[in-house]
Amino acid sequence: MDANTFVLFGATGDLAKRKIYPALFNLFIDGKLPELFSVIGLGRRAWSDDTFKANIEQSLHSFSRREVKDPEAVKKFLGFFRYHVLDVDRTEDYQSLLQIIEQREQSLSLTPNRLFYLSVGPELFETIASHIQNSGLGDTTGWKRLVIEKPFGRDLQSARDFNEQLAKSFAEEEIFRIDHYLGKPMVQKLEVLQRTNPVIQASWNNRYIANVQITASETVGVEERAGYYDHSGALRDMFQNHMLQLLMMLAGHLPKSDDSEQVRLKKRHVMQSLEPLLPQNVSSQVIRGQYKQGAIQGNPVIGYKDEAGIPQDSQNETFIAAKLQIDDQFWRGIPFYIRTGKRMKEKATRIVIEFKEPIKQTGSTASAHTPNLLVFEISPNEGIYLRLNTEDAAQNQDLTKVLIGTHKSGSEVPEAYENLIYDALRGDSSFFAHWDEVELAWKWVQPIQEAFAANEVPLYEYEAGGFGPQAAHDLLAEDGFEWWFDQEHAEASSAPAQVSRQDKEPSLVK
Ligand code: NAP
Repeated sequence: MDANTFVLFGATGDLAKRKIYPALFNLFIDGKLPELFSVIGLGRRAWSDDTFKANIEQSLHSFSRREVKDPEAVKKFLGFFRYHVLDVDRTEDYQSLLQIIEQREQSLSLTPNRLFYLSVGPELFETIASHIQNSGLGDTTGWKRLVIEKPFGRDLQSARDFNEQLAKSFAEEEIFRIDHYLGKPMVQKLEVLQRTNPVIQASWNNRYIANVQITASETVGVEERAGYYDHSGALRDMFQNHMLQLLMMLAGHLPKSDDSEQVRLKKRHVMQSLEPLLPQNVSSQVIRGQYKQGAIQGNPVIGYKDEAGIPQDSQNETFIAAKLQIDDQFWRGIPFYIRTGKRMKEKATRIVIEFKEPIKQTGSTASAHTPNLLVFEISPNEGIYLRLNTEDAAQNQDLTKVLIGTHKSGSEVPEAYENLIYDALRGDSSFFAHWDEVELAWKWVQPIQEAFAANEVPLYEYEAGGFGPQAAHDLLAEDGFEWWFDQEHAEASSAPAQVSRQDKEPSLVK
């Protein structure tokens, strides 16, 4: 890995504390940081280097997935860091930043490679990018990279305007847009699983697959983010980015190689092949919902409109489900169902592939068989399960289900930010959101945004702690399908004194 300087805007903020320092520390422990490395943290707060380092150390103790045990390792790690006060609007602060970076590059014999990580609100991105350009910070004989966090615009036009501004200071291949779902290890494995397993390759099409279901459900409500969330909703906050990125990673077919350009082309192909949503079809293909009061794990919770900072007449969606179709030779005719919501029964991100049922098709009378399923558990736990039918000798040769799979609990799995920061340091943009995908995703959701804004789609209330509005279940029932595992979770959580689902292995065995 090239020696470089990691310039962190927003070094005093929440994301840096909870994700970035713990991720850098775990990379350091794994020997995945360059030997020659310098981090310059930036913020308006008048911190000294020592205060900065004390805050970093505290964040490691609070948020690192590994226990922080070795004081020598911590000391060596903290040696990478320096702090500098910078207000993004003050030109002179960038000049002094440039001097500090150059001094460190000289004293540590660092090649002048610079990674600028913007862990600040998106309203500051354009100002920072242009100052990097104008101050000479970006004018280096080494490489320069820009890492940014979503949101990348609010709609198609604002995303295009925003991208145009960034493009004045950074080339597309220098921009690394973080979508942290792409950093989740199971999502990163989807492509390898396809590429290296002929069984998956052979069945990855409309001949064998009946439907695909992608779910990302949260048990939390709006939390402290009312101001942001009530103007964003599930469509902008989750669907346009994380959910469509999961779809692209899953539905893309094998690139000739796994380099980042091929991955980008593959993802773009999926978005370009997505059947456009006609305005008159939005209300039949898209379901929106808002949680009302209910109970999460037995504890009563209030409804969305009663949350602090949410207006009583809010029409904002906290749930969205949609049916999508990909019009290419592999997927034509196969429905992809996507749903995401807050205050749902369980916290889980999962993809379920339901296979067609040849037994049913040949008119067998066997009663107990169910479709084969391939399940990718993405988070909080990680697993892959294949559900097959077999014979149960003890029960008069009736068919029974058998589940084959692997399972890891959340604490064993590297954090998404570790993978993403590592890739950005190496310059590998495979698991980042590229501009053409972002633009195509905004384009695809535009009719939904317009229909929601014009109130042309019913806003269904759903009980907190459930599985979303009934209409989201009807969406699949109309095609003869149902959301997998909702029933199992409902039964598991109502059973008295049962082992927590997350402690079982595999977690989906009924
Ligand atoms: P935050 O806690 O509010 O921190 C904001 C940071 O920006 C602080 O370090 C602040 O430093 C700095 N800042 C604000 N105005 C500045 C200015 N004029 N000049 C220089 N520095 C300024 O926000 P956050 O939660 O860390 O979020 C940062 C970004 O990550 C946002 O884009 C957010 O959407 C995204 N994100 C956050 C999370 C998360 O879990 N927190 C998750 C995903 C994405 P001073 O106060 O010292 O000036």
